[in-house]
Amino acid sequence: MKKTFIGIAIGVFIIVGASFKFYNSISVNTAANKNLKSQALEKAEIESLLALPIEPEKASEVKDNEEYRFYTFMLNRPNLLLLVNRNHQLEKDYAPRNLVKAEVSFLSSSSNEEMLMQKNAADALKEMFDAADKQGLRLFGVSAYRSFASQQSLYNEKLKSRGKSYVDSYVAFPGESEHQTGLAIDIRGTVSAYNANIKDFGQTKEGTWIRNNAQNFGFIIRYPKGKEIITGYRYEPWHIRYVGQDVAEKIKESNIVLEEYVNQVIN
Ligand SMILES: [Zn+2]
Repeated sequence: MKKTFIGIAIGVFIIVGASFKFYNSISVNTAANKNLKSQALEKAEIESLLALPIEPEKASEVKDNEEYRFYTFMLNRPNLLLLVNRNHQLEKDYAPRNLVKAEVSFLSSSSNEEMLMQKNAADALKEMFDAADKQGLRLFGVSAYRSFASQQSLYNEKLKSRGKSYVDSYVAFPGESEHQTGLAIDIRGTVSAYNANIKDFGQTKEGTWIRNNAQNFGFIIRYPKGKEIITGYRYEPWHIRYVGQDVAEKIKESNIVLEEYVNQVIN
């Protein structure tokens, strides 16, 4: 009897702890989450909504609660619109829960971690690379998921080797990298060394095909030419971000970037 009680107590503790951790992991500083934060629901209230069964007579009351609807919306759908940039940071311990190895060719310099993506993004990437392959275009993954810690070492290394103005244009500060979402990947059309010709990728056959077709597979060119002032990054034809097909098509058609799209959705 005593053991059962301890078991239940530990169970409740784990559930509450896990939901608290998850709440923290999604409560990044996106515009959408600012919306959540600015509303009155306290963390403790969210925990109790998630961790405890809702009494039947109170269920309709809770479901009518706007914050609860927003929260369950965030919880129940993949965070495909997660906005991360120089103004919208991820927390240090944010890590997507559904990372898998993307089953495409990677450069030999890619680490195991860099081959990971969220499952839906990994599947879409494979589909896209296979479609390119049918056109005789060979694509390679370079770097997909990067944890906060990996981004930190990359940042420090690039700062040392390439200098401040390079990192300001191309390398994200830890927590400000979209690679931490597991939804973005840098790709190449050649197996040559990491830095060789990356800037020319947009002019290659592979780069052109990606620019014209990525949206059909749910990807966008995240840092296009002419939008530097909004994205905070120079044109990066090699950095693609998974947002799902519907959104990718809308973004491409309207010639906007993710920041502008998220802004439209929220307002
Ligand atoms: Zn990138």
